[in-house]
Amino acid sequence: MENHFETEVLHGVKKSERKIASKVTPIYQTSAFAFKDLDELEGFYQGNGQYLYSRVGNPNTDELADAVAKLEGAPAGVSASSGMSAILAGVLAVVKNGDHIIAADDLYGGSFHMLKEELNNFGIETTFISFKNLITVEQEIKGNTKLLYTESITNPLLRVEDLEGVVKLARKHQLVTLVDNTFATPYHCKPYPMGVDLVVHSATKYIGGHSDVTAGVVTGRADLVDNARRKVVNLGANVSPFEAWLTCRGLKTLALRMKEQSSNARRLAEAFSKNSSVEKVYYPFEQDRNGYGAMVTIELSKKVDVNQFFRSLGWVKLAPTLAGVETTVSHPLTTSHRALPQEANEALGITKEVVRISVGIEHTEDIILQFEQAIEKSLI
Ligand SMILES: *Cc1c(COP(=O)(O)O)cnc(C)c1O
Repeated sequence: MENHFETEVLHGVKKSERKIASKVTPIYQTSAFAFKDLDELEGFYQGNGQYLYSRVGNPNTDELADAVAKLEGAPAGVSASSGMSAILAGVLAVVKNGDHIIAADDLYGGSFHMLKEELNNFGIETTFISFKNLITVEQEIKGNTKLLYTESITNPLLRVEDLEGVVKLARKHQLVTLVDNTFATPYHCKPYPMGVDLVVHSATKYIGGHSDVTAGVVTGRADLVDNARRKVVNLGANVSPFEAWLTCRGLKTLALRMKEQSSNARRLAEAFSKNSSVEKVYYPFEQDRNGYGAMVTIELSKKVDVNQFFRSLGWVKLAPTLAGVETTVSHPLTTSHRALPQEANEALGITKEVVRISVGIEHTEDIILQFEQAIEKSLI
């Protein structure tokens, strides 16, 4: 039977059935998957590895989740549309209405707001407290406490968490631990093998690495990741196949990027330490002599006009993100920590003079020079 033009234009071009061995995974830019018959459809529900609907699962989004889980040394992973949705899925995998969370008081601003303003409205209460002293953290544990939540390297002052201590405390009280490993990446730190239950990432940052996607991943204990996957599916927090594909593409160079960016960061931090116009340098020097993380935070001296400093940075852009291959700077007080009360920022040490630097892969000497000349040009 000949089809009419209207039908032929849709169904005439047959999808290739040939097995094509493309070198990289193609983008499965499809919202759903087709089945031959009811038996095959039933097979999906019996767990035959087929795909059904892209919100529920897609080869590209799975590839991202599996790759990050493997690097984290974790048995399972699920990807999400952003770091925030990964965190939401991870948290809701553990707590429900009536439960209590203890979170580090220097969490990423977005995570702080999610817990304080959103989850609080659903009967999930969070106590924010400094994790520098785990004895005071232990004192906050209540009968309904379920989760300890912190970050492996914090933002913007780059405190390296005592993950072993956190795990020990959690195990003593049968609590689940969730660690945001965005800043460290599994290149520097693998919380799961240390005993952390859930490890989350804003893949928007180093996992993707090129400032061109928004994505997230939850990895960790298989039962908890299963819960998190249900949250991603039920809340519609899935990442798109194309974004997942781009993130996987970026991920392939994570080791090269982290190696270069971390050693650049260490060299830059050392140069700042010798600069009399820099009051304080925040960098985890003691962790690794080749650099530990690619973020450096400084407090400029009062002799420097901060706004003039940003204007004088040339190719170093002021941008409220981090972890791209280009060096960028951000101003925590007016961006990430904007919503915090002044006293809270003062207590944390986040003043107008604090500048957070995401160090890129440019030549080390050019990066150092760019900052030194900007400071020079901004002296009052
Ligand atoms: C950026 C960031 C997030 C949020 O991720 P998005 O991808 O922007 O949703 C969470 N945690 C940390 C540490 C981050 O830097």
